[in-house]
Amino acid sequence: MDKLRILLVEDEPDLAQVLVDYLVRDGFDASVEGNGAEALARIERAPPDLLLLDLMLPDLDGLSILREVRKFSELPVIMVTARVDEIDRLIGLELGADDYICKPYSPREVVARVKTVLRRLPRRTASEAPNPATRPSLIEIDADTWQVRIQGQRLELTPKEFKLLQALADKPGRVFSRSHLLDLIYEDNLDVSERAVDSHMKNLRKKLSNALPEREIIRSVYGVGFVFEGREDDSPPPARPTPGGA
Ligand code: CA
Repeated sequence: MDKLRILLVEDEPDLAQVLVDYLVRDGFDASVEGNGAEALARIERAPPDLLLLDLMLPDLDGLSILREVRKFSELPVIMVTARVDEIDRLIGLELGADDYICKPYSPREVVARVKTVLRRLPRRTASEAPNPATRPSLIEIDADTWQVRIQGQRLELTPKEFKLLQALADKPGRVFSRSHLLDLIYEDNLDVSERAVDSHMKNLRKKLSNALPEREIIRSVYGVGFVFEGREDDSPPPARPTPGGA
């Protein structure tokens, strides 16, 4: 099977090389591009399977690149930024990045996030693709009756919990900030703090984990917000060869 191709757009060569080494060791075909305009041309020519995009580049910044890429491709993108407070702003822009990583990062963590984002994608080859018609839904959300079922089992949610789940599940893999979720679940949020989101979210995640202990359906992204990870496909992630044994 062909290796999945990761393009890392990063202008700090040492940092980039460390990450590339980790990705290659994990079975990916990883390469680096330090120049924004050159990166964009490369993506247009031959889109990678996943893009790791640094926000601060000397010429074209990461945001402009992502904007351009989104005009012609839905390829998965992980944004990398040196500022944790920047992430909230990026999410607010709704540019459609699939995840956000803050520097300094551990290369291991980045590899894990890359795998998570890739796992969410539909299978590439037709022979491997699960049949959507016969595949049972892990989680069913009925907006008309306000009912939620997990593997067929009914889940009792409050209206706020339902709204939170619905908003996140509507865009799997997208990270929602607390303030964005606050806007979504309250009509008029003038007197409501973001702590209210945390409180409803805590209860919702508890109910979800009670129903499905082995899965984390809603993941908390530290310092940022929440992301829906409940994939329809319940099969384990594809095993990758680990050179030198596990
Ligand atoms: Ca940089």
